[in-house]
Amino acid sequence: MVFPICSYIDIHMEEAPLSDLPLFLLFTDCNEITDGVFCLKNVCKTHSCVSCCYHTEMLLLREDIDRIAGLGFDEQFFSISTPDGFIALKNSRMGRCVFHDGTKCTIYENRPKGCKLYPIIFDEDTMLAVRDELCPYRSEFALSHSSKRQLGIVYPQLLREKSQRNGAEKESIA
Ligand code: SF4
Ligand code: SF4
Repeated sequence: MVFPICSYIDIHMEEAPLSDLPLFLLFTDCNEITDGVFCLKNVCKTHSCVSCCYHTEMLLLREDIDRIAGLGFDEQFFSISTPDGFIALKNSRMGRCVFHDGTKCTIYENRPKGCKLYPIIFDEDTMLAVRDELCPYRSEFALSHSSKRQLGIVYPQLLREKSQRNGAEKESIA
């Protein structure tokens, strides 16, 4: 199984002139720094691609759910339980993530961690961070140490939260 975990841009070129950026950032790719993302090249915008926001299977961490719920969205509106016990983003009847308006992500600043890291995902078979084959422009994203490190945190956290939910369910049945 592959865990979908886009690093779009939080600081765009036009918002952050090169002269304002620390020197080391000038040599990074889009995914080089994904928490409070700095990016000099927006692959998704360049290609006008929104593919991964359609039929999304993005898994959610508790902190993602709490953050989005804090914006005033009902958990039931945006999340579903998957058959294997995880919680994932919901798609609308139009087949896109409930937060995608057909043009853009409407919760961009608060999107799930997995969306920030995508198309870098964790491949459970190889236990490695990889570029998702479903992203048509995956080769333009860096498989950086930062992405790998963050996936190394997100993946066990997803498993831990799943197991806690399962434990709580069993207790309530007993
Ligand atoms: S599929 Fe790839 S290029 Fe397209 S929006 Fe997602 S991450 Fe960006
Ligand atoms: S939360 Fe935003 S970035 Fe993530 S799948 Fe939905 S629309 Fe796309």
